[in-house]
Amino acid sequence: METPTPLSALGSIQFPAIPDAQASLQLALQYQFELSEWKSTGEIETAQFNQLHILLKHAQQNVPYYTKLFEKHGIQLPERIDRAFLEKIPISKRSDYQDCGDDFGSKKMPEGHGQMAVARTSGSTGQPLKFGRSSITQTIWRALSTREHLWHGRDFTKKIGAIRLAPPDYAPAPAGVQGNNWGAGVDKVFVSGPTVFLNASSPLEGQLEWLMREKPSYLLSFPSSLVALTRYAEQKGISLPSITELRCVGEKLSVEHRAYLKDKWQTKVTDMYSCEEMGYIALQCPKNEHYHVQSESVLLEIVDENGRACAPGTRGRVVITSLNNFVTPFIRYDIGDIAEYGVPCSCGRGLPVIQHIHGRTRNRLLLPNGENRMPRLGEFVIYKKYDDAGIRQLKCIQHSLEKVELQIVAARAFTEIEQKDLVDILLQNLEHNFTVELTFPAEILRNPNGKLEVFECRI
Ligand SMILES: [Zn+2]
Repeated sequence: METPTPLSALGSIQFPAIPDAQASLQLALQYQFELSEWKSTGEIETAQFNQLHILLKHAQQNVPYYTKLFEKHGIQLPERIDRAFLEKIPISKRSDYQDCGDDFGSKKMPEGHGQMAVARTSGSTGQPLKFGRSSITQTIWRALSTREHLWHGRDFTKKIGAIRLAPPDYAPAPAGVQGNNWGAGVDKVFVSGPTVFLNASSPLEGQLEWLMREKPSYLLSFPSSLVALTRYAEQKGISLPSITELRCVGEKLSVEHRAYLKDKWQTKVTDMYSCEEMGYIALQCPKNEHYHVQSESVLLEIVDENGRACAPGTRGRVVITSLNNFVTPFIRYDIGDIAEYGVPCSCGRGLPVIQHIHGRTRNRLLLPNGENRMPRLGEFVIYKKYDDAGIRQLKCIQHSLEKVELQIVAARAFTEIEQKDLVDILLQNLEHNFTVELTFPAEILRNPNGKLEVFECRI
């Protein structure tokens, strides 16, 4: 592996580099991660429980949702936290946080967490949630993104590429957009090479042509997008470009898809497990194809229907506590995924192992001309524009090559003009003139595999 070159903020001192304050903080965290990942699982858990104690005390005192929750369930904070106590805390669902409104936010913050920002999941579940972040949560997110690069031994001077969802008209094929460095997380820390980015809703032909031209060493995308692109190239008899590594993000990477991508591209395939509310949850081990929980940031549990820890190899619900978000604390949050623990890793890291993640896979939109693409629905625009409508769920279903249905569950009705606007936003994002049926069910049901999907193709 190429050793990364730290960036100096001082022109007059290059060796050793004197990074700026933000980068220094990230490097300081990196140093700690390099120590903590080798500790035993028990030692890591003890450190987590100590951190959780501070978070629980804060939440009980300053976050009305938890003040009420703990009171209702008679929860008293003990001197020391152990697993038995943890399992007494009721699990919260996304709908619980949606329902409690401002009660989810901290009324008072501890010192030093920096600037607060409100974020919103635009997520693939179609259940929007507003939550907060601090500078500290962002810094830890950046440091973990750098850890992921370091774990997989990437050469920071090479070109990195991504095919991801973006608003309409941003980075479409054929050009995409270019950047001078690897972006947030790396840009202030190490000398890095160029970045290229393409909108994932670009037609597959344009994606492949872009890839051939840009030839990034590392390519990040959704597994379903990479699989669709690979199948397209196969069908057209186009040979795939040579790439050092495919990086998967944003949805489940099945064993079959991993094997298929590895075989067709003849390259390394890595995966990461993250969500908007938590940032990085688990990263692929540098030596094996399973995942290590990012225990310095999240306390992850895989639980059965009684909220108790599952044994390795047994599927259970993923329940996560963010250890550093004091703005809107997520404590025992059921994020709607199913996973199974693995046994301790041969690499020697004490970070717990997740063997399999049975998460979501996105459906693709089918067009009458035979093309298929990753659909962009504009749900983020809708949530923001109709913030006052209290949208709890949103889903788009493709019923035929001509017709789609937009389902919305909201606290209030939409006027005729607003309904027309909703249809316009959807069509503008789908970039095809479908007939749209707008419906307002009382609830959107999970699909047969228990997942809520923002887009479903029923053809
Ligand atoms: Zn490992």
